[in-house]
Amino acid sequence: MKVFETKKRLKNQINSLKNQNISIGFVPTMGALHQGHLALIKASLQDNAQTIVSIFVNPTQFNNQDDLIKYPRTIAKDLQLLKSLSNDIIVYHPDANDFYEGKIESQHFDFDGLELVMEGKQRPGHFDGVGTVVKKLFEIIQPDRAYFGEKDFQQLQIIRKLVEKEQMPIQIVPVPIFREKDGLAMSSRNTRLLPEHRGIAPIINETLREAKALFKNNSIEDVKQYVYRKMDENPLLEMEYFEIADEKTLKPAKEKISGNKYRGFIVVYAGDVRLIDNIAL
Ligand code: AMP
Repeated sequence: MKVFETKKRLKNQINSLKNQNISIGFVPTMGALHQGHLALIKASLQDNAQTIVSIFVNPTQFNNQDDLIKYPRTIAKDLQLLKSLSNDIIVYHPDANDFYEGKIESQHFDFDGLELVMEGKQRPGHFDGVGTVVKKLFEIIQPDRAYFGEKDFQQLQIIRKLVEKEQMPIQIVPVPIFREKDGLAMSSRNTRLLPEHRGIAPIINETLREAKALFKNNSIEDVKQYVYRKMDENPLLEMEYFEIADEKTLKPAKEKISGNKYRGFIVVYAGDVRLIDNIAL
């Protein structure tokens, strides 16, 4: 398995792949890999002759320095895991200074309002950071396809908008949320949960599934109130937001319009760990 740490060496490798017309699938990650990441990588291995995985805890997308410092980093284990999948994967594990050429800062993006709601509102600058890192990665790697998890659904829609606006010829492939047996969405942050929080965390997905059932015959406001009440009852979990939004525009929905598709989006703190999940309604 080849691991690249500098842009220059990776670019040489990409040029050689491009010269041979080899299809490239790309999976960007921040490491601490789990089965959710592997679902994306397996999809890429199936669709493409060459898969490239990046492992980079990107500083520009963290609005909270404490979160950046505490973010789990397990590169040796990650490489083992990737090797067990396939020896052919190329790994890009950049150094932040090499990647950003000494200027670790974000470009500002207009994603037609997708960046102004939910995660964009709660985490100022987050999607500028995501847009900056993904655009740079796309420019270096020039993939034919790139894989993104529906777990970060707003991010997925923003990346679709990014390639549309930047006119990048890259197919964005969505991958469904991979969950623990008890329903908790897999996340690198789950390793930081205290046992009591890990025990209660499946309630988040359970509540989303209840919201989905209620959505059929109840108003949006009633469904939202149900979810807020349910989380309120739980002293170990603190709700940051629950929103029902149009799947395409991500605009918060006030009433159901037939033909439109909706999703429920939730963020909950379990102790100091921020957990995110969503469901198609
Ligand atoms: P991260 O390392 O958290 O930045 O995630 C890298 C990619 O993996 C993103 O596209 C995520 O949406 C995706 N991902 C993370 N967890 C899951 C999961 N449980 N199921 C599906 N995709 C996931």
